[in-house]
Amino acid sequence: MPERPDLEYVVPRLADALAGAVITATRVRKPVVLRLAVEGKPEELWTGRRFGAVSRRAHFVLFALAGGAPDVEMVVAPMLAGRFTVDDAGERSPGDLAVAWTLSDGRELRYRDSEQMGKVYLLPRGRWDQVPGLQHVGVDVLDAQRFTREAFRTLARTRRDQVRVFIMDKSALDSLGNAYADEVLWHARIHPKTMARALSDDELDALHGSIVHVLSDARDEVARRQAPLDEKVRDFLKVRNRHGEPCPRCGTTLRCAGVHGHDTFFCPQCQPETRRSSIVDWRKAPSTPGPAAPPGVRQKRSRR
Ligand SMILES: [Zn+2]
Repeated sequence: MPERPDLEYVVPRLADALAGAVITATRVRKPVVLRLAVEGKPEELWTGRRFGAVSRRAHFVLFALAGGAPDVEMVVAPMLAGRFTVDDAGERSPGDLAVAWTLSDGRELRYRDSEQMGKVYLLPRGRWDQVPGLQHVGVDVLDAQRFTREAFRTLARTRRDQVRVFIMDKSALDSLGNAYADEVLWHARIHPKTMARALSDDELDALHGSIVHVLSDARDEVARRQAPLDEKVRDFLKVRNRHGEPCPRCGTTLRCAGVHGHDTFFCPQCQPETRRSSIVDWRKAPSTPGPAAPPGVRQKRSRR
């Protein structure tokens, strides 16, 4: 479920709700979500620890935990369907409850995940290398100082993949998931299968502007709704999950197609598939190497 606009709403509220709360018990209903990088029984590892700061890093939620040995932190990757609630411990457990942490004040932090695709990591503090995708996070797209047009052009020139795959790479950009990737590409009028390297400077500038615009708007809209923590606010999206509906810009019927195993929604009129999508072959591209990627950005190998 959660993408950056959702997490930017949820994380500060979790931080407020949990600050200083002490964990007295842990119930594990779906062990498949647990990833423990410390020794011990899952039901006991959290006991006696106190919640500190809660923060977002890409699509992860980081929970600082004080007290107890060894020194640990919790990292949750909610993936597709993970969500949090803070309830009275006496309330009935929902069917999709994965893990619950009972607090000394009678409340409970609950991690729910109907798909069980999310992960709850407990790791020695600072060992972010234990969590795939956590250590190397790309440029913050809402940081106007760092995410400049020039920085984005430089990054795009190093890519050998389709634009949708590129903008969803969390090691390049922090961050876009399936829903906002579709929204951004529709806003920028770019077909999702266009090769990143085939985009002109003007198109890259437009895409840069759309990333900032769409994510900022979504963040503001989600914040404005003041929905419950576990509710996904997506009804304002223009194309995501709107297959068969008219494009809000031109009225053409929106389509859905697969891009690297992910459903992608787009308007065939506003986002025409040009020959550039299919004929650009990086193996035949000029051999001049592009500028080096910024520090911390992992180069992806193209699959042949
Ligand atoms: Zn359209």
